[in-house]
Amino acid sequence: MCNGINCSNTIVKIQTMTVIIPKEVYFTVVAACVRFANRKRPKEDWKEVSGIFTGKFIENENGKDLYISACYPIMHDTFDPNDANVDESDPRTVIDGYEYSDEDHESFALIDEEAFSRGEFTVGWWHSHPGFKVMLSGFGDRKTTISYQAHNPLAIALVFNPDRLVRQIELPQKAGDPVRQLRDDPGFKIFRMEDPNDRYSNFYEVEYKIEGFEDGEQRVRYAQKLAIDITNFFSGENVFEIYNKFIDSRINELNSLLQGVEEYLHTLSRTGESHRIHEVLSSQTREIRKFIAETFIKVENIKEFMNYLEYKERPIILPKVDEILAKWDNTVSQLNSKLTEIAKKFAF
Ligand SMILES: [Zn+2]
Repeated sequence: MCNGINCSNTIVKIQTMTVIIPKEVYFTVVAACVRFANRKRPKEDWKEVSGIFTGKFIENENGKDLYISACYPIMHDTFDPNDANVDESDPRTVIDGYEYSDEDHESFALIDEEAFSRGEFTVGWWHSHPGFKVMLSGFGDRKTTISYQAHNPLAIALVFNPDRLVRQIELPQKAGDPVRQLRDDPGFKIFRMEDPNDRYSNFYEVEYKIEGFEDGEQRVRYAQKLAIDITNFFSGENVFEIYNKFIDSRINELNSLLQGVEEYLHTLSRTGESHRIHEVLSSQTREIRKFIAETFIKVENIKEFMNYLEYKERPIILPKVDEILAKWDNTVSQLNSKLTEIAKKFAF
């Protein structure tokens, strides 16, 4: 019998629906969740992340499949279990401390409206269980899933554990039980409630297909690589501060490279090695162009990561990041004239 959260053994499938997940949708879930649960953050600071999916139903021979066309990160858990006012018996100290703010509800409404204008709608929700088992918790998750199924009978709930993807293991339900080794696992499962009118009813797993990869092995390899990039370059709340620091240091480095070239050429002309100036200037210019190309890859990463921001963050963070990246673009656009200036000083 099912009681509380220990229901996974009694799962039955009553639907033939398959959920189709494009690569970008999957990567958005991975990135948004790893952002707040990764090796750069102490484990006690790992936060649950939550968002929604929009999409449409596609007729198939057995009935309907669900095609998810977009994934929207909405919020990360700001519940602090160490707060002195928090009662230790509060289940949120252990799991599912997320609470939606008015702003989050506004995001839901705006996203739903946008979807509607494309002939689509909100088709479910997703959230992370960082470092703990993938399932629907008895107190929060099932209630939330039911509210989605009430609006849309075929709505789904996806639960992702970044640690499951990174380590390819499923943690046991109870402490002391064995850890299960996984293979080619994307780190999540998709669930629905059996009875959309009863929050105490069972949940069951729904089949899915992730598009855009050659096979499961490649999918996990790419997703794990994304998790590393996110850990290094998109971790935590104030990502624009990381980018500001990064771009400033790149600009400084570029300026000191240019200064270094000039000093080098001065030395050559002083020590009677002017015949080498041309050769040295071209090799140094190549080095500088290499540095710019490396930075360009990072800048492209930053732009890509902007797709993984929470909906409410976009109007605040996007203009800041644009401003930061414009500093770099400006610097690079002056490079040729700076190099010409240096060359002229040494009569080229
Ligand atoms: Zn949960």
